[in-house]
Amino acid sequence: PAGGALLTVDNLEAWYGESHILHGISFNVAAGEVVTLLGRNGAGKTTTLKSIMGIIGKRTGTIRFDNHDIARASSDKIARLGVGFCPEERGIFASLDVRENLMLPPQVRSGGLSLDQIFTLFPNLKERLGSQGTKLSGGEQQMLAIARILRTGARFLMLDEPTEGLAPVIIQQIGRTIARLKSEGFTILLVEQNFRFASTLADRFYVVEHGRIIDGFANSELQANMDKLHSYLGV
Ligand code: ATP
Repeated sequence: PAGGALLTVDNLEAWYGESHILHGISFNVAAGEVVTLLGRNGAGKTTTLKSIMGIIGKRTGTIRFDNHDIARASSDKIARLGVGFCPEERGIFASLDVRENLMLPPQVRSGGLSLDQIFTLFPNLKERLGSQGTKLSGGEQQMLAIARILRTGARFLMLDEPTEGLAPVIIQQIGRTIARLKSEGFTILLVEQNFRFASTLADRFYVVEHGRIIDGFANSELQANMDKLHSYLGV
């Protein structure tokens, strides 16, 4: 999007030790968009999110967020700029209850959601306030994980496979939450294997293969490119 990019990633390369995983990832996300990274297992989607969050040891290339160069910034600094990352494994504290999980994340930036705002978005969490992380359903854990990011003041949310392992009715609930966050002005970068879910939410899609972006589509172009997508994703 001309002029309006909140996040610009250009020629990003990343390594785990000696393993060269990303080979030049380039894409952008405009403020207020939902953008989805698609691709087969091991393509490099999670590594892309981790690189943006600053939690990959070795990365090169350009990453600009909100007019700041974050390619070499620490994850603390990146969080303070308003970037939040919800990992696939969700990262909640299993031994703590819901209230404790919600109280722990530091507000690193103004605009962190209050508990009341969290309960408006996630009524289930209010009912489960005293329940331990281990006692929550998968869907409740996912909602708690997103809620924790919202407590920090993040305005740009990176969600790694939020629907993984969840029942269809819960997936719908997560979808409504993401749509609502978008309508409230949050910008969302989603990694999803569930293409149907992503296609109801995302404005644009990028396809990741072998550590590169090999194609991109607007939502309105999906139908016309279904054959290509099938071949990329093997679905
Ligand atoms: P998935 O849906 O399986 O997570 P992905 O597209 O997110 O797929 P990544 O998790 O980014 O893929 O993984 C990209 C490549 O990096 C894979 O080949 C994976 O085996 C490798 N990899 C991931 N994490 C590490 C690690 N900590 N150390 C070494 N290699 C890793």
